[in-house]
Amino acid sequence: MTKIRKSIESALKKEYDAIIIGGGYYGVMLAYEAARRGIKTLLLEKNDFGSATSFNSLRIIHGGLRYLQSLDLHRFKESVAERKWFLKNFPKLTEPIACIMPLYNKGVKRTSILKIALKLNDTLSFSRNKNVNNENRINSGKVVPANEVRKLFPDIYLNGLAGGALWYDGSIPDSQIVLMEILKTSANNGCTPINYMEVKDILKNGDKISGVVALDSESGNEYKFKSNIVINATGPWSRTLAQYFHKDFKNLFKYSIATNVLFDRKQLSSYALAVTPPKKDARTYFIRPWKGKFLAGTIHEPWNKLSEFPMPTEKSLSDFIDDLNLSLPNLNLKRSEILQIYSGLLPAKYEGDDELAVREVIINHKKYGGPDGLYSLSGVKLTTSRLVAEKVLSAIFDKNIINSVKKLTFPVSSDLEYGRFDFDWNPEKDKRNWQDVLKYKIENEYVVHLSDLLLRRTTIGDNPGNALNVAREICKLFEWNSEEELAEIEKLKDYYKKRGYQKLINKEGKV
Ligand SMILES: Cc1cc2nc3c(=O)[nH]c(=O)nc-3n(C[C@H](O)[C@H](O)[C@H](O)COP(=O)(O)OP(=O)(O)OC[C@H]3O[C@@H](n4cnc5c(N)ncnc54)[C@H](O)[C@@H]3O)c2cc1C
Repeated sequence: MTKIRKSIESALKKEYDAIIIGGGYYGVMLAYEAARRGIKTLLLEKNDFGSATSFNSLRIIHGGLRYLQSLDLHRFKESVAERKWFLKNFPKLTEPIACIMPLYNKGVKRTSILKIALKLNDTLSFSRNKNVNNENRINSGKVVPANEVRKLFPDIYLNGLAGGALWYDGSIPDSQIVLMEILKTSANNGCTPINYMEVKDILKNGDKISGVVALDSESGNEYKFKSNIVINATGPWSRTLAQYFHKDFKNLFKYSIATNVLFDRKQLSSYALAVTPPKKDARTYFIRPWKGKFLAGTIHEPWNKLSEFPMPTEKSLSDFIDDLNLSLPNLNLKRSEILQIYSGLLPAKYEGDDELAVREVIINHKKYGGPDGLYSLSGVKLTTSRLVAEKVLSAIFDKNIINSVKKLTFPVSSDLEYGRFDFDWNPEKDKRNWQDVLKYKIENEYVVHLSDLLLRRTTIGDNPGNALNVAREICKLFEWNSEEELAEIEKLKDYYKKRGYQKLINKEGKV
């Protein structure tokens, strides 16, 4: 039993200022922004924190260059400010990433147009580096000559290459660790987080919310927790819950699926590459370096329902691989090289479409004849989740509470304390006290299952083969009997199979 399970008992005795349902980026940021204002929250997550959509991003903190294209200056400014928030608050867990888009002077992707766009991007984001550490500064973008692009990416199409747009954005390679850091800081300042606790219903006193009923998936026990405010921050689940608690709000979440794929291939460069396959109506993909590997995306497809573990269709995966091979003729990428498929549901602009929604949706159910004290929300990017949290709390709590904000800082730790391990980590060669650090995490960071520790409290799980190889040894740090150990390892294997880890699926590897 970890600390958090013990805290169920004390949570039952308390009355919270707000109960947050959902422990993804949006729920955790709500907990954090509430903690800064002395608002006591209970955060209930039905699986592990950050294990759904929030686990599957491309790990880019978007500064909003793309919003300039649609002249959405409001969103551009919000994104620049939120990127700065991450780069400033997590100097060791975020970094700038250089991005290159080859230009062939077709359509709007011309050197002349990009020169203006990049200049505008830098001018409008003039304060982007204020109070940001030197290493995390976002440099100005520019159009570079064709030979520079060719040097970086010799395998792109060179015919007609006129240059490349070079810009910088934010990277958050271990977004799950950042989420945990935010959660831990919130927990130290008035939030009670409980994972594996699924909210099943709301409790009401007349028209007013009085709490929730939740099921502990570990014990099978049902509990009632008290609060006059309930915030439904369940991302893809938000619409279904809103409908169950009150009524359907279509604009809360029109489903689409987005996917990135990690390949067992060396990264192409330390720069990210935006490529468009030479075919009609082609989509632009992003190939980014990540842990020395090749992480590419994003595939966007329409989707029509809520899915617990959404995965792209076989066809879209193979089309995607074909597109990448078409964009880089010598790439010869194969399906058998897939290490993990990162997929999640994102809100679309229109029902049955793959174009993403542009803004967050915040619903005060009372305004629509629903329970007093019930709020639902959905957001579009993890980049802006903190800002949306602030907006949600401002819609609920008194101005005096909202405006009296205390400064909460995040401790800067060593890589080991953060749980950052090399992609090819070898425990036998690691002379550090990693066992003590992992034990500490097991006892203090709400770890219930092996997968929580490997995938979301550390980076060991980034590499499926390695994680499965060290799983048995790591199980020894828990107080499990051999049957429980086996069950935990099987659970991890199942997870990687579902994520498309080809060596497990094809039984080619030794894992
Ligand atoms: C492929 C892909 C790439 C992306 N790339 C980027 C990127 O590079 N940069 C960026 O900024 N954004 C990116 N995003 C978007 C970003 O990941 C999402 O906007 C964000 O993670 C959504 O967070 P969330 O908290 O709303 O949802 P989630 O992370 O899905 O969290 C919702 C949580 O609610 C829980 N829940 C559901 N029902 C209940 C219940 N009844 N009781 C308790 N808990 C419940 C779920 O288990 C889940 O953990 C990407 C998304 C995808 C899919």
